[in-house]
Amino acid sequence: MSEPEAEKPLDFIRTRIQEDQQAGKNDGKVHTRFPPEPNGYLHLGHAKSICLNFGIAQEFGGLCNLRLDDTNPVAEKTEYAEAIQDDLRWLGFDWEDRFFHASDYFDKLHSWAVQLIKAGKAFVCDLSFEEMKAHRGNLIEPGKNSPFRERTVEENLELFEQMRLGEFPDGTKTLRAKIDMSSPNLNLRDPVIYRIIHQEHPKTGNKWKIYPSYDFAHGQSDSLEGITHSICTLEFEHHRPLYDWLCQNLGIHHPQQIEFARLNLNYTVMSKRKMLRLVEEGHVNGWDDPRMPTLQGMRRRGYTANAIRDFCEKVGVAKRENVIEVELLEHCLRHDLNRCAPRRLGVLNPLKLTISNYPDGQVEEVDAVNNPEDPEAGTRPVSFSKNIYIDRNDFMEDPPKKYFRMSPGREVRLKYAYYVTCTEVIKDSDGEVIELICEYDPQSRGGDSPDGRKVRGTIQWVDASTAQKVEVRLYDRLFKTADPEKTEDGGDFIDHLNPDSLKVISHALVEASVEQFEVGKAFQLERVGYFCLDPDGQGNDGLLLNRTVAMRDSWAKANK
Ligand code: ATP
Ligand code: MG
Repeated sequence: MSEPEAEKPLDFIRTRIQEDQQAGKNDGKVHTRFPPEPNGYLHLGHAKSICLNFGIAQEFGGLCNLRLDDTNPVAEKTEYAEAIQDDLRWLGFDWEDRFFHASDYFDKLHSWAVQLIKAGKAFVCDLSFEEMKAHRGNLIEPGKNSPFRERTVEENLELFEQMRLGEFPDGTKTLRAKIDMSSPNLNLRDPVIYRIIHQEHPKTGNKWKIYPSYDFAHGQSDSLEGITHSICTLEFEHHRPLYDWLCQNLGIHHPQQIEFARLNLNYTVMSKRKMLRLVEEGHVNGWDDPRMPTLQGMRRRGYTANAIRDFCEKVGVAKRENVIEVELLEHCLRHDLNRCAPRRLGVLNPLKLTISNYPDGQVEEVDAVNNPEDPEAGTRPVSFSKNIYIDRNDFMEDPPKKYFRMSPGREVRLKYAYYVTCTEVIKDSDGEVIELICEYDPQSRGGDSPDGRKVRGTIQWVDASTAQKVEVRLYDRLFKTADPEKTEDGGDFIDHLNPDSLKVISHALVEASVEQFEVGKAFQLERVGYFCLDPDGQGNDGLLLNRTVAMRDSWAKANK
């Protein structure tokens, strides 16, 4: 009997939330949110944030909202917004009727800006973005007050209204909070809270010519939704005092912000900006390229939601930046696929094999196990005949001592079928092996020994009379270095791309029933690896298969 699983200690975020709940803070309620900006596709890092926010809500009997932080109409697209919802559902999370947009709050945010102006806590500034930067100072030197800082409330109200009406071009004026230009925290040096952008917005159309900054929208959106715990990544730690200042000065509900370290994975990049470059410069074939760390790419590659959720749980949350090894991700994937992926037979490098003593024209069916991990999955019939194919890598003419696969004179088991012995090797004029002639033992049907004699090698095969041709795409790491983002001497992460990240194998052969699998749903080709059908359907050479992951689990080995 297996030991009952030990109760896992709570991470620092859950500990904090549990304390708040036990102390009766927010009447014991827990309400989180996942707030992506719809300016790109979600990646694995977002999955971590999703699992954390939705997971915590579930564990503490609370709720989690989905909110699109759509404050910048320049970079945002409806295409992204739709993919975000699709990915979230696929990951298995449900926001019920709590789907919001920061743009739902534009009226409210505008009135709060007016409130700050009236209280003498915000002013319209005519400095350009360059001038503002020059005034801002740095970590050592304090900033300088804007010459427009002392405008009267009336003047500010009038100018802000003119901004709203679209009377000024982009970049000529901003609304800034009046906080402290000498604060050691740069975010408190009179930050911009509204800017002029003459751009149609996907949700609000042409209503607005001014848009709130992310910092002015984010905390207040959380506040408006009654979020109790605003969980975010470390880069927002220094924004927290600004959010606090805003909530305090507006006199509104104050969510507790808690920061954690972003998920980083080696051999890839995890930033929408960098992924956009990969797509736009054609280094990959779109956002859903199976080599991309996007959820869309991973889905196309055959990843399961289960594996991704398991991975996010295993990596946990940390307060300090760290880099997770991609082997752990692949381990979680293999673990899940081993459990649920149906098995099929296939050969990537077919080598013809003819059984000399098998009756001409006969085709029979043998029973193959669908999933040894799942007795309920049963068996399926697979056709077998005189002509079959095995994998070229399973044959050696002059094998070393411990080689148990096929070689002249050695008997091996064709999985689920028969024992065969190679009696002749046929070569072309270049000396390359093009066909093997074998004899089979009709008594060994099903791959069972007829008389107790043992064979050490078992190999997979496909029947020539029914095999399905496929083109297989084998993927390797997208980058050849573990940390492509670390670019010294002004280098570029693009320079670290792995030129061999995609290899195409044409003329591979699989069992015909592979055709019936759902696109993106991984199956195992026994002894070869996990694969899935690509949505593009047909390659140049039959069905198009993506390799999800190879069989070998180096992580499990190293962490035994
Ligand atoms: P990117 O840097 O890739 O553009 P982002 O942080 O700008 O990402 P958002 O759409 O603003 O992306 O992120 C939505 C949520 O996901 C935020 O709460 C953010 O903190 C979180 N998030 C983004 N990247 C990661 C990551 N690598 N690990 C954990 N959480 C992340
Ligand atoms: Mg962002």
